[in-house]
Amino acid sequence: MTRALRWWRFLPAPVSLAALLAALVLGATPATPARAGTIEVGSAQVTSSDPTAVTFTARVTSSSGLRSAKLEYKVLNPDGNIGGSGDAAFSTGRESDISFTLETKTPTRYIPVGSDLVYRWVLTDNDGVTAGSEEQTYRFLDARYQWQSRTEGPVTVYWYGNDDRNATVALTATRTALEQIGALLRTAVPYPTKVIVWRSEAEGELAMQSRGAVFDSQVLTGGQRVAPDLLFVFEPDADVIRHETAHIVTHVAGDGPFSSIPAWLDEGTAVYAQSSPGGGYTTGVQFAIQSDQTIRLRSLQSPANDPSLVNVFYGQSWSTVAFMIDRYGEEKFAEIFRLVREGSRVDDALMAAIGLDQDGLYNAWREANGLAVKDFGPIASGTTVAGAVATRAPLGIPTGSGSSSGGGRANSAPTPAASSGDGSAAAAGGGSSGAALAVGGITVLLAVLLGGAGVYLLRRRA
Ligand SMILES: [Zn+2]
Repeated sequence: MTRALRWWRFLPAPVSLAALLAALVLGATPATPARAGTIEVGSAQVTSSDPTAVTFTARVTSSSGLRSAKLEYKVLNPDGNIGGSGDAAFSTGRESDISFTLETKTPTRYIPVGSDLVYRWVLTDNDGVTAGSEEQTYRFLDARYQWQSRTEGPVTVYWYGNDDRNATVALTATRTALEQIGALLRTAVPYPTKVIVWRSEAEGELAMQSRGAVFDSQVLTGGQRVAPDLLFVFEPDADVIRHETAHIVTHVAGDGPFSSIPAWLDEGTAVYAQSSPGGGYTTGVQFAIQSDQTIRLRSLQSPANDPSLVNVFYGQSWSTVAFMIDRYGEEKFAEIFRLVREGSRVDDALMAAIGLDQDGLYNAWREANGLAVKDFGPIASGTTVAGAVATRAPLGIPTGSGSSSGGGRANSAPTPAASSGDGSAAAAGGGSSGAALAVGGITVLLAVLLGGAGVYLLRRRA
């Protein structure tokens, strides 16, 4: 049976940073025990010591003792919250200390620092009484540092240390890029953006989304877009931040429920958003043109974990985007994003906007760069040419008691000076051991009937 219960609230809502910092300093949040049926709860805490885990604890008094204690949680995400639950450890007897540790960085789960976690306890005693707490929100920050925050317009920046210059650079660059790329793509990001600024890559490394040991060791990571509304900055370089911010805008402008913009368009736009593409990318595409080693556009995907291909990939993507905007104009360029978001295949969107498919566009770009046109033959309708995909987050597929999925994809920024690049990403989210989200290189094929015109296979990129 279930009884009406009153539960406790141990953080004011909305959660203020000051309260969170106080909680971290004090090591405990103030809790007011509240009698709830036969179950009484006090001393509720949420603690974290670093970016790898969050621990939820409380003390429960129940006349018959606890039979089960479960923590249910959601990671808030503009694309759809990702949730899960886990069984808490507890002691027997009338007084129980309950505890559940949510690991946030595992091979199958990545919950980035900066995320908001909404959670509640579900407790059942040996009389069969089940009680569920009110939902509470916890903003997960890297507890190794003392964070400060500043909000201007739609952007909140978090930083630590005595010097706020990096935070100011990040705030200004994010706001500027949101406005400029929003104007370019004729869109506006409908939710706030959070920017977490570490003093260095070494200090932020534990929070970083891993892209594989080989890649990590060879490429500096200036920044990462780890959720649709969340940026990590490890280097106070305005162009790194502009690049990552552009990904926030391209996602809103071009990714729909069943479609997403190709990697070359996404990354090309992000490099275009930089004040300069940087020497590495410029040299990379120039060398590819001079040696006629450019890559067919529809195969131009992220260089996976091969750092040697980074400069050609970003350079050619940027050059193609710059060519498109120069030749066809911003209005047509924005239209391509809108059509893809609304469900068009990339070739169809390009054809509608500029009268060329990806091969046609590639040849137009080749001609503009003094290269001969290539004959690729017709592309069969409804097919796509597979290529390595590395900039998109795997889909999160909740199982068990997970609440919902969120596709979100993550991007990581190259460091222009080092000519490094984006890498693969893993989705935020995940359940407990009992309700893990299956994530990985999952391709979901959805058969969708479009206006009676036929059945198209739309591929959601993993
Ligand atoms: Zn990028």
